[in-house]
Amino acid sequence: MNRFFLEPYLISDERVNFPETVEHQIISVLRLRSGDIVEVLDNQGCLYRVSLEVDLEKRSVIGQVMTQEVASTEPAVKITLCFGMTSRDKFEWILQKGTEIGISEFSPFISSRTLVQSADLSEKKLVRWERIIQEAAEQSHRGRLPKLNQPQEFEACLNSSAATTSLSLIAWEEDDANQVQVSQSLEEFDGSSIALYVGPEGGFSEEEIHLAKESGCRVVTLGDRILRMETAAIVFPAVVLHDLGEL
Ligand code: SAH
Repeated sequence: MNRFFLEPYLISDERVNFPETVEHQIISVLRLRSGDIVEVLDNQGCLYRVSLEVDLEKRSVIGQVMTQEVASTEPAVKITLCFGMTSRDKFEWILQKGTEIGISEFSPFISSRTLVQSADLSEKKLVRWERIIQEAAEQSHRGRLPKLNQPQEFEACLNSSAATTSLSLIAWEEDDANQVQVSQSLEEFDGSSIALYVGPEGGFSEEEIHLAKESGCRVVTLGDRILRMETAAIVFPAVVLHDLGEL
């Protein structure tokens, strides 16, 4: 079942107007025809089942809303993945795989050892990355589009996740006195919103771990093997989602 996220204004009383790019995808790429059914999401929590009216001469598509329901595939927990700014291919891999497993928000940060030290994302890059997220969300049948935040300094990231989530966990591969397993760290978790921190290829400095603890982060281990940052960026949320019965 093909799924499209559309701006809410395109879905008005029983009719759906598709943007030209989506019309092209429907007609030429997916080769859908009149009578075929697709799912349309407004990224506000609604899912519409829509019957297509395809006009091949005009290369136009109109949708007829058949049913409307709550989009139900979102995890109950809102996970914000905070990770060190890295090379484009790893960054895009994390966006795609994170979207598939159920991440709700991506917060890249700059820290002492991140490969990338500049926080400004070009508009072109942002558009490309939001398209990667949208395509992954449509393919994986997400009910909402994950949000991509602008990169920020590590400390600013700690402050914003302390203010917006009920638990923050930082994955550290070094030994730490009060380090726990992920499942232990979730024992008193209220299940609402959680920030997960993964360091860059060079890891976190001792000072950054201290800062994280000061801001309320719990230090967790991901096992005795050292994972690459792009591996940890997916394994960590996957373990949390599994522990919370979402995977
Ligand atoms: N210091 C590492 C490089 C960092 S790995 C090395 O020697 O290669 C990148 C990030 O993945 C780390 O900052 C950490 O957040 C996470 N990570 C990797 N393996 C981990 C483990 N076994 N336990 C906890 N976190 C881990």
